[in-house]
Amino acid sequence: MPRPDLLLISNVPAPLRAALAERFTLHEGAPVPGIRAVVGGGMAKLDTALLEQLPDLEIVAIHGIGHDGIDTAALRARGIPLTLTPDVLTEDVADLAIALMLAVHRRIAANDALVRAGGWSAPLGRRASGRRIGIFGLGRIGHAIALRAAPFAGELLYTARSEKAVPWRFVPDIAALAETSDVLVLAAPGGSDTQNIVDAEILDRLGPDGVLVNIARGSLVDEDALVAALAEGRIAGAGLDVFAHEPQVPEALKAMNQVVLAPHQGSATEESRTEMRNLVLANLDAHFAGKPLLTPLG
Ligand code: NAP
Repeated sequence: MPRPDLLLISNVPAPLRAALAERFTLHEGAPVPGIRAVVGGGMAKLDTALLEQLPDLEIVAIHGIGHDGIDTAALRARGIPLTLTPDVLTEDVADLAIALMLAVHRRIAANDALVRAGGWSAPLGRRASGRRIGIFGLGRIGHAIALRAAPFAGELLYTARSEKAVPWRFVPDIAALAETSDVLVLAAPGGSDTQNIVDAEILDRLGPDGVLVNIARGSLVDEDALVAALAEGRIAGAGLDVFAHEPQVPEALKAMNQVVLAPHQGSATEESRTEMRNLVLANLDAHFAGKPLLTPLG
């Protein structure tokens, strides 16, 4: 039996690529006829134009959760399933959100650089506990962040599309959430509904003592407005795992001590990446064996 043809639409970790190469004939770049499966990371793009070049496509398997670059409506119209890797990375992304929050308040990155450069006398940081923490998006990751943050938060608030049966205060929109929070944590998907939802006005509502943490998508934040708000002291700091034009990070952000930067590493642990890889492979194996998929997008 010839191996099915599979198109990689973004870079994927080397162990996943190696495992895929054992099962499929891998292709990259321009599609060839006969592609039956597509695999990409959470930032991968699969638009209508590319889909039209894939008449034999049967399944799309994403190594991640984000699928804002995928034309899900076109897939649905053709009856092509899309699988993600939910749940297995949730705890690690939530840990990173807390780490960024603490690192910004306590100047962990700036002081690390100071000590490495031979310094010792550091400016004071800010107390992290007791803050009002507002989480935008209370899904799998947002909920896991809330569970971690609640014990040391002064108050925990959240915004989602619908109110949840949780002990934390629901705030109906991001403007009110920013207004009532000291720390605004973004944990909602990218896409047209949330594009630049954190703009200059939202940052001003967060205010000069406010801290922004983004582990969601860079597209949620107007990055120019963020740079301006930080430079002008209109917010106090930011912890950022995601950026508008990855892997590019604005030079202005790199120069700021009140900002902690991470290279989109939310799921980058041995444990999450192993489980994510296994889930991508298990979904593809199930599809080609005619069995039910493990984690199709609902
Ligand atoms: P999820 O379970 O689908 O949760 C998404 C949450 O966002 C839900 O609570 C949803 O509200 C809310 N939401 C969606 N659209 C909204 C809107 N327009 N306004 C307000 N709230 C909205 O997803 P997840 O697994 O927690 O992942 C969240 C996002 O994290 C992913 O989409 C991905 O982009 C990002 N992510 C980042 C990394 C990283 O490495 N940094 C890793 C994995 C994922 P309802 O519950 O009311 O529907």
